[in-house]
Amino acid sequence: MEECTYCRLIGNKSSHNIITENNHAICFAESFFREGHCSVVLKRHVSSISELTSDEYIQLFSLVKTISSALEIKYNADKTYLLSIGDQVDHFHMHLIPKHKEKCSMGIYCFGALFEAEGKRSPTEEEQELLKNDLKKIMS
Ligand SMILES: [Zn+2]
Repeated sequence: MEECTYCRLIGNKSSHNIITENNHAICFAESFFREGHCSVVLKRHVSSISELTSDEYIQLFSLVKTISSALEIKYNADKTYLLSIGDQVDHFHMHLIPKHKEKCSMGIYCFGALFEAEGKRSPTEEEQELLKNDLKKIMS
């Protein structure tokens, strides 16, 4: 079985693109997309945020907040985009991308491609009510 890309990077402590880490998460400078693109990766291999322990969640998002603040200062950014998709690497991670003032917004890319592939639709009020009630039942 092929080793997970992030598990391999986490195991390679000499990786040149590690920015910082804590007990449960590690931050890498990424080499693609926009300037400042970083990833904060949970050290333990899980696929979904729903699998994180409370301590892992707190430490991962603590690192996300710290890196976001640093990116916003470095790039004089309006804010930091956060993305978690995991289709290419099935190891929970967050992409952090500063919103550069002089570049276009990313939402058009993220949702534009999805709308193009699946069509844009709005759920009916009944569908929203059903979703709300089903999630409340599951969470109770
Ligand atoms: Zn992994």
